[in-house]
Amino acid sequence: MAKVPTPKLDELEKGPWPSFVTEIKKRADKHAACSDLLGILERSYNEKIGHWKHGGIVGVFGYGGGVIGRYCDLPEDFPGVAHFHTMRVNMPAAWFYTSEAIRTLCDIWEKHGSGLTNMHGSTGDIIFLGCRTEDLEPCFAELAEAGFDLGGSGSDLRTPSCCCGMARCEWACYDTMGFCYEMTQHFQDELHRPAFPYKFKIKAAGCPNDCVASIARADLSVIGNWRDNIQIDAAEVTNYAKAGLDIAADVVNNCPGQCIRWDGKTLTIKDEDCKHCMHCINVMPKALRPGKERGATLLLGSKAPIMEGALLSSVLVPFIEMEEPYDDIKELIEAIWEVWCEDGKNRERVGEFIQRVGMGNFLEAIGLEPDPNMVAHPRENPYVFYNLNEEEESDE
Ligand code: SF4
Ligand code: SF4
Repeated sequence: MAKVPTPKLDELEKGPWPSFVTEIKKRADKHAACSDLLGILERSYNEKIGHWKHGGIVGVFGYGGGVIGRYCDLPEDFPGVAHFHTMRVNMPAAWFYTSEAIRTLCDIWEKHGSGLTNMHGSTGDIIFLGCRTEDLEPCFAELAEAGFDLGGSGSDLRTPSCCCGMARCEWACYDTMGFCYEMTQHFQDELHRPAFPYKFKIKAAGCPNDCVASIARADLSVIGNWRDNIQIDAAEVTNYAKAGLDIAADVVNNCPGQCIRWDGKTLTIKDEDCKHCMHCINVMPKALRPGKERGATLLLGSKAPIMEGALLSSVLVPFIEMEEPYDDIKELIEAIWEVWCEDGKNRERVGEFIQRVGMGNFLEAIGLEPDPNMVAHPRENPYVFYNLNEEEESDE
């Protein structure tokens, strides 16, 4: 139980949704951090302000990221959370665990920290929530012994994450888990030792449904795609129609490419107009599936509002084959990092960097050709830059 009364938090034990207050209370007798966390949280609920001091720089030797230091601003009242650092532990791709792995993690965290976790942080990591500075190295050592490493934090490559892909989903256009794991291993140095102007995130989705929201939450969004025709099983289409699906209303009329025909017997798709939106496949999973020539679309630049406004990633490579060990993607990532690390401003995300220097200059610097797929529509103003060489050439 919390050492101080928590009438406001107690209210949050009511109602049907699993209560985080109940969960923390379960551990309140076992660790001072948990009872004091309830205490300081109740105080924040009353005063409507946070009670954590600004910032905090702690970590483990050899790494520059992975631990988020935090100190409460009322250490006399709540000594159990005087230090309350968070360790980010790199999760397995797509969050598949054995009970044994979870037990191992629990044993380590009960020994060295509060026992409280987030399963998982928004980027994907296992979050070990709350420990003291002197606990960090022993905890890290034991994690490493058990085969777990820290995730990313700070101006580095953050922990890549992916949808469950081929493990459980018939729409996966490439092996998201294999790709995610390969990127994580290949770029360990960039993940553990911040060397960038700012953070950089990679997320991998197996198809345009984008179940990891990569297009909104990753600087590099890798989204599975196909470039041939949607596979149609005519017999299964008939079954859907017989079972009462209104194909005209629910599929044909919702197709953004307006490229599906249904005459009551046969379904046809004009694939060159298909926008690969997944809608028809989502509605009739037994009858339709992505094409056979599969790969991914690479998109770049998404970020949250600060500083220059929120961005979604936009197309960088319309289609790329996804084959281990993904050398061409690694090269592209390195080219992006080289340009952004050289000319990016302090704390400028790659999306903002492109807005500042211009897509044309950026593409030239990383060695990619412009492509109509990169824009939703052409520019509407006439303020076009020409480089001097181009003008001289046309004068000749
Ligand atoms: S993004 Fe696509 S492939 Fe991945 S889990 Fe979602 S639907 Fe399946
Ligand atoms: S994937 Fe989307 S755009 Fe393509 S045919 Fe199906 S509904 Fe139309």
